[in-house]
Amino acid sequence: MILVADPKAEYLAHADAIRAAIDRVLASGHYILGAEGDAFEKEFSAYQGGGHTVAVANGTDALELALRAAGVGPGDGVATVANTVTATVSAISEIGARPVFVEIDAATMVMSPEALAAVFARERIKAVVPVHLYGQPAEMPRLVEIAARNGAVVVEDCAQAHGATIGSRKVGTWGALAAFSFYPTKNLGALGDAGAVFTQDPALAEKVRLLRQYGWRTRYVAESRGRNSRLDEIQAAILRAKLPHLDAGNAQRRKLSARYLERLAGTSLILPAVLPGVTPVYHQFTVRIPRRDHLRDALQPRGIACGILYPVPIHHQPAYRDPALSLPVTERACAEVLCLPCHPQLDLADVDRVAAEISAWLAANGAGQK
Ligand SMILES: *Cc1c(COP(=O)(O)O)cnc(C)c1O
Repeated sequence: MILVADPKAEYLAHADAIRAAIDRVLASGHYILGAEGDAFEKEFSAYQGGGHTVAVANGTDALELALRAAGVGPGDGVATVANTVTATVSAISEIGARPVFVEIDAATMVMSPEALAAVFARERIKAVVPVHLYGQPAEMPRLVEIAARNGAVVVEDCAQAHGATIGSRKVGTWGALAAFSFYPTKNLGALGDAGAVFTQDPALAEKVRLLRQYGWRTRYVAESRGRNSRLDEIQAAILRAKLPHLDAGNAQRRKLSARYLERLAGTSLILPAVLPGVTPVYHQFTVRIPRRDHLRDALQPRGIACGILYPVPIHHQPAYRDPALSLPVTERACAEVLCLPCHPQLDLADVDRVAAEISAWLAANGAGQK
């Protein structure tokens, strides 16, 4: 079976380093917020090109604490997209803020700067949360400029884009703050829940640090409100073992994606578009086809498991339903997207097999060529 993500194969590829990391923590006698967490924060900051990392319990918490550190609170409007995992929006709504959905660009499927400008013309927005969906960076220079002009803060959702760049700058360095998830299937994944807030502003980093542990600066004394969103030492040590391999994993994802683009060119599939000057990291390799469920169901018995990220836009989900809101580009994307297997433990032969099965299905179903 060719899987859309394979955390076990990923573990086995780094098993010796991961087991050594776990043993080191077990022997240390220190299991939460210690030397491993501190070291991971430094190493991840260096990976980002300098700045401050605050490791937290998961990516949703990272978004929530970043927004709170940025001063977002009850009643504030937060602009984001509706073709994302529910987590992006639950982080906004759990702090009492109000998600405001912005239409996406049809080609790249990330937040449209024009649509964001139109939202600002209509209502008060305190923060903007662009999502670098599938590892494709959103158009940060323009989004940041529009937000700044309107006095809003930008918090990047980098959960799918560790290591992606725009020009020479990594995602996570464009907004005031950024949230990363290290869920096991992400480009940098732990073996449990983990996340981090990244910022270049030491004062914001300090705020997040207080928020992640009861508002404590000094032990047992709360200086601000805060909760528990600590990262444990085992996950931090595992992330330290895997961080040095992130760039190679991303390079392999790009190599597989280039092969997909070559093999599927000329078919009726809509292939992922890449903005000029951008290096994506292909958390997912996502194609579009009107009858995507048929194609997915045809590939499954042939040993190929595809993903659908995401089938239901947030404004159509029961908890966030907004019948008055129409986002035709987003809705159509959610109906058509199909994520093909693309992760570092696959090789070119796997891609060739997937592409051949897809081409055969398209030909048999009268949709072979453009
Ligand atoms: C995974 C993910 C999150 C949430 O991260 P968790 O660690 O699962 O809380 C948020 N946003 C996006 C885009 C994600 O892919």
